[in-house]
Amino acid sequence: MSKRAFVSAGVLSAGIVWFSLTASVIADEPQLYGFTPESSRAERQREEKLRAVPSPENMRAYMERLSARPHSVGSPYDKDNAEWLAAKFKEFGFDTQIESYDVLFPTPKERQLELLECKGDSATDCKVKFTAKLEEPTLAVDPTSGQKSEQLPTYNAFSKDGDVTAPLVYVNYGIPEDYERLERLGVSVKGAIAIARYGHSWRGIKPKVAAEHGALGCLIYSDPNGDGYFQGETFPQGAYRPSEGVQRGSVADDPIFPGDPLTPGVAAKTDAKRLKIEQSPVITKVPVLPISYGDAQPLLAALGGAVVPAEWRGNLPLTYHVGPSKLKVHLKMKSNWDLKPIYDVIARIPGTSDPGQWIIRGNHHDAWVNGAEDPVSGLIAELEEARAFGELLKAGWKPKRTIIYCAWDGEEPGLIGSTEWVEDHADDLSKHAVAYINSDTNGRGYFGAEGSHTLEKFINDVARDVPDPETKFSAWKRAQLSSIAFANGPDDRQEARNRADLRIGALGSGSDYGAFIQHIGIASLNLGYGGEDGGGIYHSIYDDFYWYTHFSDTDFVYGRALAQTSSIAVLRLADADILPFEFTDFTDTMQTYVKELKTLLQQKQDEVRERNREIEEGVFQATNDPRHPTVAPKLEEVAPFINFAPLDNAIAELGKAADAYKRAYDQASTSNFGKAQDLNRLLIESERRLTNSDGLPGRPWFKHEIYAPGQYTGYEAKTIPGVREALELKRWREAEEQVAIAAKTLQQETALINEATAKLSALR
Ligand SMILES: [Zn+2]
Repeated sequence: MSKRAFVSAGVLSAGIVWFSLTASVIADEPQLYGFTPESSRAERQREEKLRAVPSPENMRAYMERLSARPHSVGSPYDKDNAEWLAAKFKEFGFDTQIESYDVLFPTPKERQLELLECKGDSATDCKVKFTAKLEEPTLAVDPTSGQKSEQLPTYNAFSKDGDVTAPLVYVNYGIPEDYERLERLGVSVKGAIAIARYGHSWRGIKPKVAAEHGALGCLIYSDPNGDGYFQGETFPQGAYRPSEGVQRGSVADDPIFPGDPLTPGVAAKTDAKRLKIEQSPVITKVPVLPISYGDAQPLLAALGGAVVPAEWRGNLPLTYHVGPSKLKVHLKMKSNWDLKPIYDVIARIPGTSDPGQWIIRGNHHDAWVNGAEDPVSGLIAELEEARAFGELLKAGWKPKRTIIYCAWDGEEPGLIGSTEWVEDHADDLSKHAVAYINSDTNGRGYFGAEGSHTLEKFINDVARDVPDPETKFSAWKRAQLSSIAFANGPDDRQEARNRADLRIGALGSGSDYGAFIQHIGIASLNLGYGGEDGGGIYHSIYDDFYWYTHFSDTDFVYGRALAQTSSIAVLRLADADILPFEFTDFTDTMQTYVKELKTLLQQKQDEVRERNREIEEGVFQATNDPRHPTVAPKLEEVAPFINFAPLDNAIAELGKAADAYKRAYDQASTSNFGKAQDLNRLLIESERRLTNSDGLPGRPWFKHEIYAPGQYTGYEAKTIPGVREALELKRWREAEEQVAIAAKTLQQETALINEATAKLSALR
């Protein structure tokens, strides 16, 4: 494939120097951002070598080995994998250690779920009508699905122990607005067991909101609408969730703090001060159990009451009712609450000229069961990158900055391995970390990146230099064309065509970047390919080598693309003369966030104003069907106007500073790039400046003022979270206070950029 196709003329900034190199295939490529003409040329030659190393055959063999047996936290094969990975990193020439912590990881001792017919209100004089299987069957074609003795049963880790018998109520996705709707339907979960379907929020939100509304227990089931037969043929005929397939997963309240539930803010070492289990605020308040749609169907069929709103219906062959049920549900959950050891593999290549500046790359190695897709599909790419760096080392290359490759344990129960490691090394990381690059699950399709917007231009440039395995396009071009195809209306389409860089999403939670970006303020990126293959084996025993090699990136060419993308990103960060941070994309993104905040407030005002008017007009009395009664909403105060001027002013100044930095960069003489040490030290600080040592309201562990996981969404990022969540929770005074804090944060950033510009100008 011709490399020419990857270079889009629209992205060339002023000051680009074009070289015609003799014996090189990369003769007319633009000079890399942050490099001199000479260092850029040398860098591109190294990248050419790096790109050639990752081998699909090796990745297939690694996957077969790493997913051969279940390897959840505390299992023998989890430790075995960690040791095998460490040996590999050593073999590739990395200075490698295993760092271990002792963390709380409950595993189930007793699980029971039944439907009971009871005499009157009695919970003892009952007849069992149905007993849930709570078991994923072995499939003859799938060789690892029968490893019963090593598989973790289906459960939600960090569910409180409990034994409850109560009627059942259906709560749709179990997010706050579902409960508003439930209230209008005149149904309450108080004293009941809530059954929610997976989707539309991180799973831990569902039991949290259910408990806040007085439920005694919570079931979470996989509706066939989400990832079952409604989406495609089910496993093993197809990729989707079979009727007995269950999504395991943690339900700890990670938006308060992730990591070990007993040691918030400090590393879970042997001598660490620990909370008592009952003191940990992240363990659920009610027992929770995840179930298959096979087990859910008889429970849903037992629900009485009104038929659910149209958008609440799933795809089981029954009429969905809200409840409550006449029959009672008996839910029992009991765990073994022992501490378990976790093993983080940490492998270094020391830097030569700037060993005190660290580029960190990671992917987790633990899984719920065999985990071929999650996490091994990302981990095998990381391993081939390490081998590629090993090849460069053998050829005599050494990085300017220190490169650290990590394979995390304990991600699945709550980002525990990465969080404990970050808390353990917080001071060093705060001083030395330049950036963190994460991956996790990988598949076929389009390049995707999320992360710090000061690295948006950087990662766009990297993707321009990676070939897509299935088309003649670069990974970047294919991603751009897909954004045009899947745009949300003409404005988005226009932007995808015309904006120099593709927008990257913000980081919420859901993988190991959390502690890096949100606790310490280390610029982070999460990378991966996907979008062409769906599937329904997430966190089940069927996420295994058989499934992956039949239904996902079966020839591992997207594994290779991920390895190429991430290794180039790591190498450029490790060897750049000037660290490739850039602030105009960042400013542009901040503008869009503030615009969203203003729109959010206006929507809240309009909504309440309209509803109040309808209440006064009698709309709700008029549309209340006496045979299917609903409860009219109550009058509410319209949200006050909030002064966003401090943020608008801060962004105006930020924009000026970003433009000035860009001009200074374009005017700097590349012959002086070697004198950029002070500048680089400042640039490393640029993400730290976006943090606030007090943290976010009610959750001090989260220090970043621009990105955080939502308290009621979980995975999904809330941007400028202090302000946004105050608006969502109708805390108007807090919103205004948070506007001032966010504005101050951006002013700090502006001051840093101005200082950096002065240093750049001195290199003219
Ligand atoms: Zn994962």
